[in-house]
Amino acid sequence: MAEHVLNGVGAAPGFAIGRVFRYAPRETATESQAINQTEIEAEVARLRDATDRARTRITAAREAAAKSGEAEAAIFDAHLLMLDDPAMIGESERRIREDHQPAAIAVEQTAAALRKMFDQIEDSYLRERGKDVTDVATQIIRALQGDASPSTAQTLPPDSVIVADELLASDVALLDMERVTALVTAQGSRTAHVAIMARAMGLPIVVGVTDILSRSRDGDVVTVDGERGEVVLSPEPSTLARMEERINTERQERLRRAEFRDLPGLTRDGTRIALFANIGTPDEIEAALEQGAEGIGLVRTEFLFHERSDLPDEQEQFLTYQAIAQGMANRPVVIRTLDAGGDKPVAGIPVATEMNPFLGVRGLRLSLKHPEILRTQLRAILRAAASGDIHVMFPMVTTVDDVRAARQILASVGAELEAEGIEHRRDIPVGIMIEVPAAAVSADRLIKEVDFFSLGTNDLAQYVLAVDRTNELLATNYSPLDVAVLRLIERAVSAADAAGKPVAVCGELAGDLEAIPLLVGLGVRELSMTATRIPQAKELIRELRVGDEAQAAQARIA
Ligand code: PEP
Ligand code: MG
Repeated sequence: MAEHVLNGVGAAPGFAIGRVFRYAPRETATESQAINQTEIEAEVARLRDATDRARTRITAAREAAAKSGEAEAAIFDAHLLMLDDPAMIGESERRIREDHQPAAIAVEQTAAALRKMFDQIEDSYLRERGKDVTDVATQIIRALQGDASPSTAQTLPPDSVIVADELLASDVALLDMERVTALVTAQGSRTAHVAIMARAMGLPIVVGVTDILSRSRDGDVVTVDGERGEVVLSPEPSTLARMEERINTERQERLRRAEFRDLPGLTRDGTRIALFANIGTPDEIEAALEQGAEGIGLVRTEFLFHERSDLPDEQEQFLTYQAIAQGMANRPVVIRTLDAGGDKPVAGIPVATEMNPFLGVRGLRLSLKHPEILRTQLRAILRAAASGDIHVMFPMVTTVDDVRAARQILASVGAELEAEGIEHRRDIPVGIMIEVPAAAVSADRLIKEVDFFSLGTNDLAQYVLAVDRTNELLATNYSPLDVAVLRLIERAVSAADAAGKPVAVCGELAGDLEAIPLLVGLGVRELSMTATRIPQAKELIRELRVGDEAQAAQARIA
């Protein structure tokens, strides 16, 4: 058979060669006949019993997923909640009682109606969550039909490339992943739970390969490129050879990285430079550790507030921060309070339209205008601090008064938790971002108010240079290594040094190979960057001599 190339969307990177295993399509309800009055109670009892069995299965899937990480397990917590939701089970019961529908049909139609509501949501991430409804309904229907799950009924040959119309999170959690090398689906998107789980498990996945089921048969040899989103059926020997080479290169690169991972970021003349990762969600912890991150220097908590119209409550935030702290197992984690507003609006917090959003109600300014939102977040952070080495950091600080106002709220929240007898930790390090020029200029005053600084060079550069960091027309004017920016960095670092307090850089410069020698030369000893940059940064740092770099940096800013 001739080679056949199919294209989709690469939703988790990696390369694989394997054989097609077509995953059994999920059953749909078939018993369409209406039931009569005398059968109603028995049918409701059947539904309840099936719901209990679905709960047992989902709990098992949760445990399997927890091996990949708490974030994956949380997907199933949402499913378990859905089993208790009146919109799902209550409505299905109503359809049995009032419409005399058999249980499986009642569940299927309830799920279809809920799915319709999700499908109308514009936001692709939330729309994707409608799949959870299908997943949960499928579990109940399978339990009603009394069959074993296809994943346990079918044994997988080794090196299977799972091919399916659509894969649900529970399918993946229960598949024997030791035998799976890649996933390919006809439907799905980058934000599907299955894609999130594949990324966490390091498995390549290509979604949206519409023809995959009609073109493939069980046992066909197939190559999968999770980066480019390419699937090749019955590959020619030359295609196979190319893919083998890529797999080998990737393996060698992983080994090389692993070699560096356990080495310290130590300059030739013995100065220790700590290498931390910036993350947006708990999903990224595993990759951060794999790249050798010694801690998390910036958690952008905005992710919890995006793509929704309500605000995350204290418990949701607490569980997320706790998952991060536990995932990092006592390594430092710097949680930045909400940095919304301006160019990053949050639907749940109404703000007036602004002429100059970057100079507007952003970051800490926004939090101080909505103290109740800040209080909720700080309560969650202090509670999570009981399970790890959590530091808290405020963004967009301009004046000493800003810091005092924020610290006052922090102290009052701590006292409140104490009075309520809720487990927490209050004596955590408190820091601020230095990203507004005024803060860098007054760094000597600000450092007296806090335990550490972290330099947000992305914003610092845009404000010092008066160049909107997102304006493509000014891309060449946006130069974070301009001497004016470096002078402010030096000023902030010297102020922190004089006070004997640590200073990190968490803007993009921290992972920039041209900037690292300069930052080290200016006295920065902690760099927090996108995790994938860590190995190269470490390799470079191990070649530097601080003495030489200090001289070079001084010459540069003279
Ligand atoms: C920065 O401004 O450098 C920074 C790290 O924060 P953000 O990019 O999230 O604004
Ligand atoms: Mg910033």
